[in-house]
Amino acid sequence: MMRQYELAERVHAYDPEADETLLNRAYVFAMKAHGNQRRASGDPYFSHPLEVAGICTELKLDVDTVVTALLHDTIEDTETTYDDIKRLFGEDIAALVDGVTKLSKLELQSERTKDAENFRKFVLAISDDVRVLLVKLADRLHNMRTLAHIPKPEKRQRIAQETMDIYAPLAGRMGMHELREELEDLAFRELNPDARDSIVKRQEFLAAASGGRVARITDEIKRVLTAAGIEAWVRGRQKRPFSIWRKMQEKSISFEQLSDIMGFRVVVGSLADCYKALGVLHMTWRLVPGRFKDYISLRKPNGYQSLHTTIVGPDNARIEVQIRTVEMNDIAERGVAAHWSYKDHVTSIQDGQSPYAFLQRLGEMAREGETLEDVIENTKLELFQDQVFCFTPKGDLIALPKGATPIDFGYAVHTDVGNQCVGARINGRAAPLRTQLNNGDEVEIVRSKSQTPQPAWEAMVVTGKARSAIRRHIRSVHRAELVKIGKRIAEKAFLEADQELTDKGVEEAIKRLKYAKAEDLFAAVGQGQIALRDVVAAVFPESVDAASGKRGRASGNGSAKLIPIRGLTAGVSYHLGECCHPLPGDRIVGILEPGQGVVVHTIDCDRLVASQDHPERWLDLRWESFAADRQQATARLRVDLKNEPGALATLCTIIAKAQGNISNLKVTDRSTSFFQFEVDIEVRDVKHVTNIMTALRASPVVSSVERSRE
Ligand code: MN
Repeated sequence: MMRQYELAERVHAYDPEADETLLNRAYVFAMKAHGNQRRASGDPYFSHPLEVAGICTELKLDVDTVVTALLHDTIEDTETTYDDIKRLFGEDIAALVDGVTKLSKLELQSERTKDAENFRKFVLAISDDVRVLLVKLADRLHNMRTLAHIPKPEKRQRIAQETMDIYAPLAGRMGMHELREELEDLAFRELNPDARDSIVKRQEFLAAASGGRVARITDEIKRVLTAAGIEAWVRGRQKRPFSIWRKMQEKSISFEQLSDIMGFRVVVGSLADCYKALGVLHMTWRLVPGRFKDYISLRKPNGYQSLHTTIVGPDNARIEVQIRTVEMNDIAERGVAAHWSYKDHVTSIQDGQSPYAFLQRLGEMAREGETLEDVIENTKLELFQDQVFCFTPKGDLIALPKGATPIDFGYAVHTDVGNQCVGARINGRAAPLRTQLNNGDEVEIVRSKSQTPQPAWEAMVVTGKARSAIRRHIRSVHRAELVKIGKRIAEKAFLEADQELTDKGVEEAIKRLKYAKAEDLFAAVGQGQIALRDVVAAVFPESVDAASGKRGRASGNGSAKLIPIRGLTAGVSYHLGECCHPLPGDRIVGILEPGQGVVVHTIDCDRLVASQDHPERWLDLRWESFAADRQQATARLRVDLKNEPGALATLCTIIAKAQGNISNLKVTDRSTSFFQFEVDIEVRDVKHVTNIMTALRASPVVSSVERSRE
């Protein structure tokens, strides 16, 4: 265990003015408070807060934060109260410890139904003072490092999943990349040990086969730079297994196709040396086109700066090299934690885009968000997505999540710009509104005063701001259309029951079915929320049999499953398209097929073309993000398998290991070297199927895997 004086020395190494007595008091206090408590590993409990404090000193955080780390579990796990801490260590530290305690309590309630409210509390606690989050991240890192000692597998899984979903992305948003990568890899180890093992084995195999290649390349880069008179620190490393796994998933490629399984970093003394070193590397080795990025001239919103280039380097290896100064390196690794050392740089980050602003925005949304689900969904979306940086014609930087379109861009500039956009010019060329924006794009929005937000836009946007603005507008217009179509459908249903829908009949129906006004009833019909025969029965009870006889299939879709979808109200009859097999997590739309209910399609389903001329039938749907017990859905994959013994068995094993259940399998094509299969697999959601697909791609017997869209 780290000794009292060692901790003080560590802090003094980066902050000579740190209050040593305060540190010592906290050390002794926490040690006494935890007394004989033990951790799951058998270690004295106090070793945990001490390690967390140690991580905080690696991040070079201020004394109050290190003290908070020492005390962070005292209120939760010992007799100590908030008032004790306040009396002994002052109000600031008490508030920090209290903040961390609140976060720890949230983890204890693990029921899925409480997630939403928990997440709101979580956001409020971390948006108050960023140091609460920093201590919590350090706490989580130590808990993840010692996760194996927890005996219950479910508990380990839950903690690992939470780390992957919430803490690692948050660390990334805070610019703390080292921490993020370690958290992710530790979680990956728990969540998907088979996948991780196979990647580690491939890495080990390659390392052995290449005989110290990383070291050789590192030395060669260093030699070339030194010869050019540049003093540099060069470090090479294998990428972490999870980074490789993610790349494989993102790009849908196999391990062999990955070019950058090794990363190299060149750290130099000055800004000028960064460009000098880049010049030397490009003159010595060939540049791989399209991979060069200058994040020095164009700083990332979280403050990250570096030059990235990929070269065909020493040993003929395609390698990515990052070049930066010592200071940039520090900010790259420690993110907001570097704030205390380089205050001016972090605060000079563009307003509204710094990690702080991000936290504040989270807090504001949690306080006054339209609905809780929206806050969660939007914040989670923002957390997960990487960003692209685009420019207005005037040169203002607009940061958007990856996958954003000109419509997102318009709304990011101003709601009016979004509402009125009819077209876009990207880098001077006219481009469709659904175009995904790339880093560095200059985007000009073409506006028209007569334009209004279109229903189809919702499937094209990824930002919360754009989505909620579009929804707000569409909800009003859409309703009017639903009422119209609902009325038409109802009239037709009455006719088919040999009756007429009169004003008096409507009066009767809304009274019996408990709607406030006729419009509400028609909207419900238009949306498929109420079965037509119930409407007919409300007016003409005796004609029900006849009506249900004719329209029996209207509400009895055998394949309808109760997978929660937002945009439909409970009890709506719908089914998932047999054409595209939408999965929870896919972007979806509903098509109202009169007399049939709603058919759900993925937004890229070919069948949608047929409904293009009926915008009034399109429903904006989204999967419920916090569904309790999800039912299984069926994904259809098209797999090309090498025609060799055992290949099919391998395929089945991989799918089974990834907890997929094969419900149907058929050969669609075969040649001497390949088999093509169509495989139906029961899965939880799109993430689940993506995992299975990546696992398949990692296998040498699989040559390609795609989801079937038709
Ligand atoms: Mn703890």
